[in-house]
Amino acid sequence: MHLTAETLERPAAADAPSPAQAAAAVRERAYAPARSEVPRAEVEPSAAARGSESRAGSEVPTSQRTPVIWFDGRFIPGDAPEAPLTTHAMHYGTAVFEGIRSYATADGGAAVFRLPEHMERMRKGAEMFGIDFDVERASQATLATLRANGHRDAYIRPLTWMGTGTIGLDVDPLSQHLMIATLPKVVHLGGARTRLTVSPWKRNPATSLPALKLSGAYVNSILAKREAKQRGFDEALFTDDQGYVVECTGANVFMVKNGVVTSVDHRDALPGITRDTMIELSGAQSRAVTLHELLDADEVFVCGTAAEATPISVLDRREFGDNPVTRELAALYARVVRGEEPRYAAWLTAV
Ligand code: PMP
Repeated sequence: MHLTAETLERPAAADAPSPAQAAAAVRERAYAPARSEVPRAEVEPSAAARGSESRAGSEVPTSQRTPVIWFDGRFIPGDAPEAPLTTHAMHYGTAVFEGIRSYATADGGAAVFRLPEHMERMRKGAEMFGIDFDVERASQATLATLRANGHRDAYIRPLTWMGTGTIGLDVDPLSQHLMIATLPKVVHLGGARTRLTVSPWKRNPATSLPALKLSGAYVNSILAKREAKQRGFDEALFTDDQGYVVECTGANVFMVKNGVVTSVDHRDALPGITRDTMIELSGAQSRAVTLHELLDADEVFVCGTAAEATPISVLDRREFGDNPVTRELAALYARVVRGEEPRYAAWLTAV
């Protein structure tokens, strides 16, 4: 049962559970069994999570099943309502997430790209809230979820969050949780030529919010993205008060001028793992870049786990033409993540 506003406002029918009973049932399902669940669930989906497939005794193709989500040590159906409405993270954004990709590899298998780096960044974010984040457990759970869902080309979304225990701002009494979802589709910009505009919003300064993937911090990105779309653009570019480029709402910025590739460096920007990869692949220099320099570049592209290398077609009134360097780099990146460049095999974790 999904708890909606409607459910909560309607008087309870005689045989239906009251809102309070429903909430208690959800809470019980969400939190009580999770802590003591059988370890087998860490590697294999439960019969319940596999859905009607096993009950009916007929084979349902993996792609048609509701994907399972790894939640505190067990698999649950992806559409199960699990978090109580008093979940701290829902009220204050006290959560940390990652965006990770796995790719189908030529040998018929799949590999996760730079899994340890993503999990280490997540651990750093979790530390901010005092969440005890176990990198190895989260990594194993990620691989297990991909296997359980039969996903090869997937976007992986781990989230760790503060649960229940208080409605106040002291997070110490709160329960801590971890989930890992895998989605067979790629999200975000996904490599398509993108129309960019300078945002009237400024990026969260790192002196107020560390450049980590703290969920609450993404309200800043959402406001900028929304404003850009309202003006007919695809994506927003953050610049600072001094006219330096910071980053996009979910991607880092590069420019190419006279064949020289430059990666924008800014302390308020997330130190992207794709950015690091692109620097390594292209030999790009990393330095502060002004908006004027960006407007004067031959090519601009943005990059991120979901965005990969996305060429910019328009930056406000500036139009960019062909982007041969970006194209070449994007093609190299595509080979690297799919295990076709043995030199970079160490970046791949086999599923
Ligand atoms: N900046 C922001 C704000 C992001 O959300 C992302 C996506 N994680 C990036 C940059 C790119 O980071 P990465 O390459 O590690 O995905």
